[in-house]
Amino acid sequence: MVEASQEVYASLHRRFKGDLLRPGESGYQEARVIWNAMVARTPGLIARCSDVSDVQNAVRAASEIGILTAIRCGGHSLAGFSTCDGGMVIDLSRMRQVTVDTEARRARIAGGCLLGSIDTATQKVGLVFPSGVVSHTGASGLILGGGTGWLTRRFGLSCDNVEGFTLVTADSSVVLANAKENPDLFWALRGGGGNFGVVTEFEVKLHPLNSVVLAEGLSPEADIRLLLECWRDFMAEAPLDLKWNIDLRLAPHAEKVPTGLRGRPVASSSLVWTGEPDAGRRYLERALSMCSPDSVSRKTVSFLNLQTMADSDFPHGRRYYTKSGYFTYLDDTTIDRLVETVAAIPSSETQIELAYLGGAAAQIAAHETAFGDRSAPFIMNLLANWSGASADAGNISWIRELFNKLRPAMKPGVYVNFMSGDEQDRVPEAYQERWDRMVAAKTHYDPHNFFRLNQNVPPRKLVT
Ligand SMILES: Cc1cc2nc3c(=O)[nH]c(=O)nc-3n(C[C@H](O)[C@H](O)[C@H](O)COP(=O)(O)OP(=O)(O)OC[C@H]3O[C@@H](n4cnc5c(N)ncnc54)[C@H](O)[C@@H]3O)c2cc1C
Repeated sequence: MVEASQEVYASLHRRFKGDLLRPGESGYQEARVIWNAMVARTPGLIARCSDVSDVQNAVRAASEIGILTAIRCGGHSLAGFSTCDGGMVIDLSRMRQVTVDTEARRARIAGGCLLGSIDTATQKVGLVFPSGVVSHTGASGLILGGGTGWLTRRFGLSCDNVEGFTLVTADSSVVLANAKENPDLFWALRGGGGNFGVVTEFEVKLHPLNSVVLAEGLSPEADIRLLLECWRDFMAEAPLDLKWNIDLRLAPHAEKVPTGLRGRPVASSSLVWTGEPDAGRRYLERALSMCSPDSVSRKTVSFLNLQTMADSDFPHGRRYYTKSGYFTYLDDTTIDRLVETVAAIPSSETQIELAYLGGAAAQIAAHETAFGDRSAPFIMNLLANWSGASADAGNISWIRELFNKLRPAMKPGVYVNFMSGDEQDRVPEAYQERWDRMVAAKTHYDPHNFFRLNQNVPPRKLVT
């Protein structure tokens, strides 16, 4: 593999405009590291592309030589797919341009953008692109897998707001995918992850929004059951403007947390209202009065503040492991299990994240995009977060055991972006009735599975 990376280097270095980094060279060490410290790999070559022709050259050289190749935008793959040992990483971090057309409410987003770069550019003119909740996440991986966040109920998933993709496919050609050109690929890219090529540009719809009403509350252990029951029933009737996420965790030792709750099991609620603010304040009061969490704060926050408020909860360089699933309904037994579990959380940073989908995302029919289940409203993400390799086994087995306990009540399906690296057997479950169509698109656009470091859809075996 090391020899192969030298061969790729030799083939590329004269025509490559970006940076080619090999082990031991200046800048390599920083470029090697991805967000999840559980995945520490040593690629033989990092090709940091400066434009589309660099991407084409890198893909061509890698496929001719047959080297394992990872694609990296923000490096936030929970599964660690954006790196590899010995092979090549195509790194898009120099391609971060965002061009906004204010009048048309459209933007062109380059394939290496982080969410924060998009928010900054679009907010200059009071527009938003619906994406995720942590601004240092890469946009490409997030959008290609689907993309959920504070605005999903109001404006749909990130991928629902993409009108066109430009990508470099496995044969190194530049291909457009939109409603008119290569519609099969356009369908597959909206949820299909990195299976089909390196996306160098997304053409997306934007929406007007500057600020939201935010209410946050903490419910002590004894009230978690009541909160979850109330949330479950309340969200079934809630308007598109309300997104209400709940994190079950040990309360942080932070100033804003009442002393008596610090380090104790809590449910942390965040309610975001994206519509008319006065109506929102009234509506949030109603929601809060039914579930009466302690220590409630209410404020209007700018969209940029909203998008960065969770950034420090998920820093680079910690160790993370996740499992995820959907529920049609959060039954009382599941609630009981969740309540029992919070007290036993092994790390103070670990969270059980609960979100309710529905809204605009659920108004799009299942067959319209490759994205997994839009109908199961409850999404649960078990996210272990710790430091120190000696705690790996304990944290991972805690997540696995909890997942196995909860699984019987889940409905089949999973969001590919919240899967870990050991769940390849669940990929068909993510796509369900869309699987054959995914395999057909993969077989057409990447018949030799060049793009395989992802939640992989293998191509059909070609008859030679
Ligand atoms: C802190 C944190 C917060 C998150 N919050 C959310 C959230 O709010 N909502 C949500 O939906 N998800 C969220 N996620 C999950 C996130 O969507 C995925 O981890 C996603 O893969 C991150 O994208 P990335 O570009 O940083 O990934 P990378 O690690 O760079 O890549 C991930 C995968 O995408 C592929 N890929 C990356 N760029 C391209 C490209 N240009 N073309 C083709 N394939 C490409 C790679 O091959 C790889 O398989 C979060 C993850 C983290 C770590």
